Amino acid sequence: MKAIRVHEFGGPDCMRLEEVPDPLAGSDQVLVRVHAAGINPVDTYIRSGIHAVRPKLPYTPGMDAAGVVEAVGMNVTGLGVGDRVYTAGTLSGAYAELALCEAAQVHRLPPSVTFAQGAAVNVPYATAYRGLFGRARAMPGETLLVHGASGGVGIAAVQLARSHGLFVIGTGGSEEGRRLVTEQGAHQVFDHHAEGYLDEIVKLTEGRGVDVILEMLANVNLGHDLKALARGGRVVVIGNRGTVEINPRDAMSRDASILAMTLMNAQGAELASIHAALVAGLENGTLRPVIGQEMPLAEAARAHEAVMQPGAYGKIVLTL
Ligand code: NAP
Repeated sequence: MKAIRVHEFGGPDCMRLEEVPDPLAGSDQVLVRVHAAGINPVDTYIRSGIHAVRPKLPYTPGMDAAGVVEAVGMNVTGLGVGDRVYTAGTLSGAYAELALCEAAQVHRLPPSVTFAQGAAVNVPYATAYRGLFGRARAMPGETLLVHGASGGVGIAAVQLARSHGLFVIGTGGSEEGRRLVTEQGAHQVFDHHAEGYLDEIVKLTEGRGVDVILEMLANVNLGHDLKALARGGRVVVIGNRGTVEINPRDAMSRDASILAMTLMNAQGAELASIHAALVAGLENGTLRPVIGQEMPLAEAARAHEAVMQPGAYGKIVLTL
């Protein structure tokens, strides 16, 4: 099969399209013929060698794929050859024509959801779900700020929160991104580069502050987030690319909580429960992954450059 291979950690150009042997499904495994693979910022951190996860070289990047089951191991139940599926992690990498997975990593893709959309489910939606409900314990009727709503995780969070009855405020850095955030259900949208936008958000809550913030760039925003929280508010650090100074008093005076998360910490029953919720949302149409750009597999390097650029617009996926 054709697969993107990394022989040495480095810049996007260290990814090469190569011919490698087809993987074979073991007794508890599923082989998926990949139609689309999702690009996540974490793929770029792993590729460059700065992430805590350092795969044995050479390796094929990617966790999120969607496609059709090609083969199942003899102990696998509930999945059969020809089923449409998306993956939540793989054993052999998603940027390839075939992806080998543990059976628990494979979830059914409803007929109404395209393969490109299926490749945009796992990391963004599972992260948004876990941040919103697992970590922040957000409740219907609360006010949520999705701080960085125009990208993969942000759009997922807006759709999840809106369908669960929260009042949703989102931010985006470009006009196009902000329009998308509004279209996906945010009640109010702000520009996170505009002067004084957090004060405007607090004004919108009649000075109370927001109950929950999902934070995509904590090194820039965490100190300011604490001042925008309501009493008992929670901020969940999802994205961070550096260090930040905060005044703990801003949290103390509000009985506020600073929470953080890594999706990779979700395992077993917790992860299965998250994907059950996501499949239900895909089925009933409340979750509709937005694809901003599709690129061929061979252009994985260009996709890695694009995902780190400002002006996010939903997801970037590789199509096969
Ligand atoms: P993405 O699709 O590239 O989107 C990035 C988002 O951050 C965009 O909405 C972008 O908005 C926004 N942003 C840029 N500057 C910002 C600012 N000053 N304030 C607030 N937001 C800002 O990435 P993603 O997949 O949504 O992931 C978002 C972040 O979460 C990344 O850092 C990623 O590594 C991290 N993440 C963490 C986990 C975890 O397990 N903790 C899981 C998934 C992702 P504009 O481009 O419109 O300015």
